[in-house]
Amino acid sequence: MFQGSAVIRPGLRAAAFFLGVLLMPGAPLWAQGLAGQDALSSGTSLEARLSPVRVETTLFPLYDMARAVGGEQADVALLIPPGIEPHSFEPSPADIVRINDSDIFIYTGETMEPWVGKLLPGISNQNLQIIAASQGLAQQGGDPHVWLDPDNDCKIVDAIALAFIDRDPEHQAAYRERADKYKAALTVLDAAYRTGLKDCRSRTIVYGGHFAFAYLAARYGLDQVSPYGGFAPDAEPAPRAVAELVARMRTLGTHTVFYEELIDPKVARVIAEETGAAQVLLSAAHNISADEKAAGVTFLSIMEDNLKKLKAGLECR
Ligand SMILES: [Zn+2]
Repeated sequence: MFQGSAVIRPGLRAAAFFLGVLLMPGAPLWAQGLAGQDALSSGTSLEARLSPVRVETTLFPLYDMARAVGGEQADVALLIPPGIEPHSFEPSPADIVRINDSDIFIYTGETMEPWVGKLLPGISNQNLQIIAASQGLAQQGGDPHVWLDPDNDCKIVDAIALAFIDRDPEHQAAYRERADKYKAALTVLDAAYRTGLKDCRSRTIVYGGHFAFAYLAARYGLDQVSPYGGFAPDAEPAPRAVAELVARMRTLGTHTVFYEELIDPKVARVIAEETGAAQVLLSAAHNISADEKAAGVTFLSIMEDNLKKLKAGLECR
């Protein structure tokens, strides 16, 4: 069904071209985008006004931020379906067409979505704006989960607002207003985390999932321990690593093992069985389930829920 509607020419343009040109504020693209608008305004301005800015996003937090900033001017989609764990995601040809047909494409970065680098040379839409959300943010030892720091999120929201304004300058004030509102909510969230996690019996997040909380831990003075080897759930942890974590929990006197979303929490279950600890979901918000989607969960509501669970699990006063 897509064959006639889009032209994918693999290898036509290097990814570096897009990243170099499209991510730079004030780069020639802006003029290019404005030129496109002028062309539209001559004959099809009504259609241009009626057609929303089409945005494709990879992860739920990026989707939620784009949706909040874009408001009624935008049609924002989440490429990775509900319930799918994104570290192991591979796009289908239809997904590539969806990205190519959009106005703005937002992903995290090459560690989180390594498939994007392979896909970009095949994109033929010269007006596509691409936002690599992690670009320009301070690194936390290679952890790709940059959205788990509200300060990073404010910067990502700003980048998203700029992309919308570039594509649709007519609604600049609306984009700015909504971005400011979202950033204000992030500031409130940040303050709640600082206050809520100030005085806790333990400062160690014992996680039965892959390492995802380097940013959150750094921001609020916490540690994270996990039997996994890295920042993705791609390999099961070694039994010895699990045994070491169980021993560590006994030393720490920890009563909670947190587990990750969207994956059978069998590692956390084993740890809980060994230690008698409670199993509590601590979502890194990569994606949401179909039920959460139906319930209208937002990135901010996930983070508020996480704070309650952290306060209980770390025994904060
Ligand atoms: Zn992850």
